Amino acid sequence: MNAPDAAPSPLAPSASASFDFDRPVSTVEALKRSISNRLVYSVGKDVRSACARDWLFAVFYAVRDRIMDRWRETHHAAIDQDAKRVYYLSMEFLPGRMLTNALAAEGLLEDIRKACTQLGADFDTLVDLEADPGLGNGGLGRLAACFLDSMATLALPGMGYGIRYEYGMFAQRIVDGRQVEEPDQWLLNGNPWEFMRPEYSYTVRYRGHLVPDGQRVRWVDTENVIAVAYDSGVPGYELSSVATLRLWSARAESALNLEQFNRGDYMRAVEAKNWSENVSLVLYPEDKTEQGRQLRLRQEYFFVSASLQDLLRRYLKTHGSFEQLADKVAIHLNDTHPALAVPELMRLLVDEHRVPWDEAWALCQRIFSYTNHTLMPEALEVWPVDLLGWLLPRHLQIIYDINARHLAEVHARFPEDMDLLRRVSLIEENGQRRVRMAWLCALASHKVNGVSALHSDIMVRTLFADFARLWPEKFCNVTNGITPRRWLGQANQALSELIDARIGPLWRRELSHLGQLRAHADDDAFLAALRLVKQRNKRRLADYVGRELGIEIDPESLFDVQVKRIHEYKRQLLNVLHVITRYHAIRANPKGNWVPRTVIFGGKAASAYHMAKLIIRLINDVARTVNADPCVSPLLKVVFVPNYRVTLAELIIPAADLSEQISLAGTEASGTGNMKFALNGALTIGTWDGANIEIAQNVGEEHMFIFGNRAEQVAELRAHGYVPRRYYASNYELKMAIDRIADGAFSPEEPQRYQDLTRSLLESDYYQLLADYADYIATQNRVDERYRLHRDWSRSCLHNIAGVGMFSSDRAVSNYAEGIWGVRPLFEGGRPATPPWSPALAAGI
Ligand SMILES: *Cc1c(COP(=O)(O)O)cnc(C)c1O
Repeated sequence: MNAPDAAPSPLAPSASASFDFDRPVSTVEALKRSISNRLVYSVGKDVRSACARDWLFAVFYAVRDRIMDRWRETHHAAIDQDAKRVYYLSMEFLPGRMLTNALAAEGLLEDIRKACTQLGADFDTLVDLEADPGLGNGGLGRLAACFLDSMATLALPGMGYGIRYEYGMFAQRIVDGRQVEEPDQWLLNGNPWEFMRPEYSYTVRYRGHLVPDGQRVRWVDTENVIAVAYDSGVPGYELSSVATLRLWSARAESALNLEQFNRGDYMRAVEAKNWSENVSLVLYPEDKTEQGRQLRLRQEYFFVSASLQDLLRRYLKTHGSFEQLADKVAIHLNDTHPALAVPELMRLLVDEHRVPWDEAWALCQRIFSYTNHTLMPEALEVWPVDLLGWLLPRHLQIIYDINARHLAEVHARFPEDMDLLRRVSLIEENGQRRVRMAWLCALASHKVNGVSALHSDIMVRTLFADFARLWPEKFCNVTNGITPRRWLGQANQALSELIDARIGPLWRRELSHLGQLRAHADDDAFLAALRLVKQRNKRRLADYVGRELGIEIDPESLFDVQVKRIHEYKRQLLNVLHVITRYHAIRANPKGNWVPRTVIFGGKAASAYHMAKLIIRLINDVARTVNADPCVSPLLKVVFVPNYRVTLAELIIPAADLSEQISLAGTEASGTGNMKFALNGALTIGTWDGANIEIAQNVGEEHMFIFGNRAEQVAELRAHGYVPRRYYASNYELKMAIDRIADGAFSPEEPQRYQDLTRSLLESDYYQLLADYADYIATQNRVDERYRLHRDWSRSCLHNIAGVGMFSSDRAVSNYAEGIWGVRPLFEGGRPATPPWSPALAAGI
């Protein structure tokens, strides 16, 4: 028998040796103890064998342990108070990394850093190992994550429901200038933040047959998939409460067909399993292709059905009937992706719980609310009735029944107007019959909101004009917001500390406090300190770009940044036209008095979106040409930063001088990137679109660079035959820029490469780049003029920071809580932000 004489102590020597368990210990000592314990007992390693990932997990568990009490208290408070809860249904969540966010919420960031150092682990290295869950495409998913953060901070009872995609948003690499997509295996090493809750599993059914049975319908012979819950805690600031994000993962009903397996047919044996588990395998790309649409519909129903079964179970644990359902439950639909929640709640109530139809429908109309995120016709969800009826026969039947009653009601009110019936019908009848999901959401909801003042206004005048005539009180605005904890506190610690020193730390809970900074607008020392902070952040980004891309950029140059999804309506191509114009101008006059610029792009294109991918390639071709030109590149550099995601946004945005928000007026519903930049002291060059307008109203137009046609002019041009060639023919610089792209100046090895792009610009130019080009160029020149005046520029930075107080997601979520959901904070600590209520909401539109 071997004597275990040399066995290592289960505790890390540095942690165990010095402990006297009866003595109160400092926070750092306590953290060291829990990390060491977690390393040994949860990760199964010790200091001698631990790799960096083991340390990361040990730290994660130690940090997670510290939210558990508050998480339980939050849960118990909701039960004990029999509180009304809000369930936020969203196909997408982009939470970003959890570790530093949780540490900041716990107030342990500095202590954990010390604890790690003393244990011999480098905290910054660990932080960088954490995966960034890309469970969304862009702004919509990030909004959902900011809202959960605010719900937690305001201690509002409720939770987020979504899908635990095995593969999130693809990872983007740039190879020879082109986007290459790689699977994002974010769960490969496990997820130390989540809890699997197999006890909360639900059967989700598809296909099958319907058997009428009195008032109800029995749905039989279905194909079944099991939805299994995974919970993550979302800690609010100073742990005011801990919200829950519950994501569903698909599991096959039976793992494998044993009979086939025993016959040696291994592939067939697991086929059914693979097929059903496909449901939560991949995040569906934003821009639809025909292929995979059926899978998308399966996904939508999958998470909606599991979530509704789950919330009804929770309600019935403490209530004997459905009488109070609408007083205890609010369900929010984040865009139309969860629209099947409407027929699903009807089915559960009518078919499974035998609630009479009219009562069930009355409940629905008190429970649901819906946020519209886009007015662009191609982005409005419609499902062919054939597909819907094939996959979910009972739901199609319920939708037809809802529609019949709805049309009868409308007809009774407006018996003359037969075309109105066609327009407001849930079923679109031209050619293929399709279900209009936005109509379904609007009909079932008691409130429908847009996400900026302009968007809400256009929404009731165009898309929902008929509905707004029928139910004017339904429609309202809640302007989007962002969480100041992540987007200033975490992403820009240097600026946070500077602000703390002037106005204290309370802005983290009440962002309107930033308005106090205006008192320092003429304080030269403060303005210099602001410049210094920006300089540090720019150097940090320059180091990253040098290290990762091998491109040297000058932190003294003006950082001009456009990071967001690549989409024609966001007009990255207009930005490129400016870059080319500037390139030509510098070449023509290299000795001119230029302000050196670094133009930074980032963003992913949907894999099937040809034009967006061409734009990425053009950016990279232009970057190659410009950066290689020795007479230009000291004055102009172009960088495409690959794989834009929340983690990169936190690095890039604090380093920006200029924020590009240049969508065609009337197309960007709100934008939230614009808010993040302004909060970090960048000046916006932007169109009169989305939340840019409200930012201008709060910050002061003189501290931004607004240009281009407004929404009415855009509509006017479109209505009266927009002719892009007129602008091309009459503007020499513009003609030069487009001609050089077309003749291959940036792609000499393949001169035809951008034909599709230039032809589309000259022949249709749907997003009217050419109409705004001249004003954009002139405005970019004004940017240079202002940037030269350091002090003026810094004052404008300050006014941007000071003016964005209302764009906190705490304000947005308070608006929802009070005006739409009817939910109240569970704890005193989670007091609602004082409402700068959007006037449109208070009044109803
Ligand atoms: C904020 C954010 C967005 C939204 O940016 P917009 O400029 O509003 O389109 C998209 N992606 C990520 C990763 C973000 O953090």
